[in-house]
Amino acid sequence: MKAAVYAGPRDIQVRDMPDAKIERATDVLVQITTTNICGSDLHMYEGRTEMEPGRILGHENVGVVVEVGSAVDRVKVGDAVCLPFNIGCGFCENCEKGLSGFCLTVNPGNAGGAYGFAGMGPYSGGQAELLRVPYGDYNCLILPRDAEEKQSDYVMLADIFPTGFHATELAGVQPGESVVVYGAGPVGLMAAMSSMLKGASQVMVVDTHKDRLALAEKVGAIPIDDTEGGGVEKVLELTGGKGADRGCECVGYQCCNMHREEVPNLTMNNLVQTVKATGRIGVVGVFVPEDPGAADKLEKRGRMAFDFGAFWFKGQSIGTGQANVKAYNRQLSRLIEHNRVKPSWIVSHELPLADAPVAYRNFDQRKDGWTKVVLKPAA
Ligand code: NAD
Ligand code: ZN
Repeated sequence: MKAAVYAGPRDIQVRDMPDAKIERATDVLVQITTTNICGSDLHMYEGRTEMEPGRILGHENVGVVVEVGSAVDRVKVGDAVCLPFNIGCGFCENCEKGLSGFCLTVNPGNAGGAYGFAGMGPYSGGQAELLRVPYGDYNCLILPRDAEEKQSDYVMLADIFPTGFHATELAGVQPGESVVVYGAGPVGLMAAMSSMLKGASQVMVVDTHKDRLALAEKVGAIPIDDTEGGGVEKVLELTGGKGADRGCECVGYQCCNMHREEVPNLTMNNLVQTVKATGRIGVVGVFVPEDPGAADKLEKRGRMAFDFGAFWFKGQSIGTGQANVKAYNRQLSRLIEHNRVKPSWIVSHELPLADAPVAYRNFDQRKDGWTKVVLKPAA
């Protein structure tokens, strides 16, 4: 099968690889029809993780089931399915509680597994023609009849739509509240859309990319361009000096200042400043325990200078971590099915898998107009 392989920092190659196959009786084999490049892939692409060269990337996948293992009950050949980026077993203590991002079975010694991901188990990714899905009955979301025509919408259920929604859950967004979102990448845009869905009165999105901010405006959010700085002051001005009721961090450890220099604690401390006293902050942007490639001394050890005093004095609280996609994907799929939302509004490029190297390069540079890339292995 053809697959996009991580060959080393900033080197993605489309190669012939051994076909993915059923390895255990509980596996399902999926022919991938749509697979996205995610901001999370970029941490690996840039060589900022322990990703092993030779592995296939891709954790945002949709496809059609072509084979099922002998112990698979529910999923049938021919089903159109969306695969949550987290791989769960469905029977451990965390999966049982809906915390599928922290499965205790699939990545022994750790909490949480994923396809094509550094530190998340040995699983291959779906930027390929075929994908092996462990515990297929648990991990496949069977899609409704409009699956094919709305593929670019349903594929967002694998990760970024539930992840953006998770940010608003961690932050506790309620109807009528104000929300500030840092980052207008795909995840931040989904957090903005989710806040609007939940009936927020005011959703402010901070970034420096005008093309991305324009997409935020399309779903009713207030774009805040931080290119010249001043984003924090603008949020305070729009909230009468108090700060927003809720805040979402959708950037992560590689967040930058206006000069495009990495300042790992910037968004977290901006959130402390721009969320009101007693407000909650949801952090879905990735932060890592170790980051040897960082310029910042603290960041190398996964640490940051956090304004804990201000945070404490304001009585704020915080929620963090991988999104438990399984906790939301079924309900969110109904919003797509019944045309309440169209998450594909952020898609800028639909390309054949063969174009993965070019797509990675442009998306990594956050080139104007490269918001979200969807790859088609069959094209
Ligand atoms: P992305 O890199 O495309 O977008 C990040 C955006 O943040 C960019 O538009 C960038 O300009 C902006 N940004 C940088 N510094 C900023 C600052 N100081 N203030 C405001 N905006 C700033 O990535 P994405 O796909 O949107 O993902 C965002 C983050 O979410 C990444 O860290 C990714 O790994 C993470 N993620 C987490 C989960 C999860 O389950 N928790 C799932 C998917 C992605
Ligand atoms: Zn992703």
